[in-house]
Amino acid sequence: MQLDDARALDRNDPFARMAQLFDLPQGVIYLDGNSLGPPPRPALDALARAAQAEWGHDLIASWNSADWMGLPLRTGARIARLIGVDEASVIAGDSVSVNLFKLAAGLVMGGARGVAVERGDFPTDGYVMEGLSRLSGTPFTLVEPGAGVAGLPDGYDVLVRSAVHYKTAAIVDIAAQEREARRLGKMIIWDLSHAAGLVDLKLERDGAQYAVGCGYKYLNGGPGAPAFVYCHRDVVEGFAQPLSGWMGHASPFAFKDGYKPASGVTRFGAGTPPILSMSALYGALGAFDGVDMAQVEAKARALGDTFLSAIAPLELQTISPPSAQRAGHVSLVHEDGYAIVQAMIGEGIIGDFREPDVMRFGFAPLYLTHEQVFSAGQTMIEIIQSGRYRDTRFAQRNAVT
Ligand SMILES: *Cc1c(COP(=O)(O)O)cnc(C)c1O
Repeated sequence: MQLDDARALDRNDPFARMAQLFDLPQGVIYLDGNSLGPPPRPALDALARAAQAEWGHDLIASWNSADWMGLPLRTGARIARLIGVDEASVIAGDSVSVNLFKLAAGLVMGGARGVAVERGDFPTDGYVMEGLSRLSGTPFTLVEPGAGVAGLPDGYDVLVRSAVHYKTAAIVDIAAQEREARRLGKMIIWDLSHAAGLVDLKLERDGAQYAVGCGYKYLNGGPGAPAFVYCHRDVVEGFAQPLSGWMGHASPFAFKDGYKPASGVTRFGAGTPPILSMSALYGALGAFDGVDMAQVEAKARALGDTFLSAIAPLELQTISPPSAQRAGHVSLVHEDGYAIVQAMIGEGIIGDFREPDVMRFGFAPLYLTHEQVFSAGQTMIEIIQSGRYRDTRFAQRNAVT
């Protein structure tokens, strides 16, 4: 591939005009939107409004006048469209870790036995299931990568699984897994962290009943943005979630003794929602208005292909699957991956590194062009071939990689 080929792809870009919603710094090519999405203007506007007009001026009245009370469900409704579910079946709040606990513990309280995570999946998912196991006495195990729901041993009913793997970007066939789960009488909790806002998810059509996802990756909600929970309407009314705080109560302001869950997904509320960061997330989701998720997914894959062909001369090993099964990022292996990523960051090309030797580059379609991605590849070739990354200043490890 040559620069002209990349430019030709940009001429047919359905999102060419969306980049102006993102005010990225000059000279930066941001290939880390899969880890922390940059702020879309509507997110910053919503944040400023919530801080100044709502909090600063209207003060406590904003719980009603700005509908702060309704914000978790309004935010959930915007996410619902992106993941292909009924808009009343998603609520924003807490973190992925906490929401995984609510769903899995709720299933265990409802009689499910045994929780499992695939080995090598995002660590917090396994850590939380370990904690649930210690608390409840239900067994926890790791199953082999890619084994899916068929890999659950006897005595295990629940699998927590990423729809897109955080390291490899492999996409799971959700419909096939759900069919298998139904046949075997098992349940899957989907972790959509690297899928929501990138993959054209159709969770309801595919038979998924439970999912969580992250607000600060492709949804661009900001650092530590609230996460979300999806629970299908057919199962939500009987669902008891254990973090039964007042914000999930049927009438929180009745201040009555005794917990009674709210109807629907509101019961997944626990404590007071973080209104400032949820306002930013709500605003950020506005950037997806009218956006066709099938086009988003297709462009992400095409950008990944552009990057891989740009760097083909390096003959690096990739742990990501071929284009058709790959989501929004590409992971390459190099023993000096950390230093190479640092040297690229020094040139304004921001990717990240995952232990022990994985360089990860994300291709968020709303603000990246093929030309940028091609040029990032050219710079990477130059950095590796010149050996410039061997400079000792690139070996210094930071706390966050
Ligand atoms: C980013 C990510 C998380 C983050 O969890 P938090 O509890 O919100 O910090 C969880 N799971 C996966 C797969 C992720 O990629």
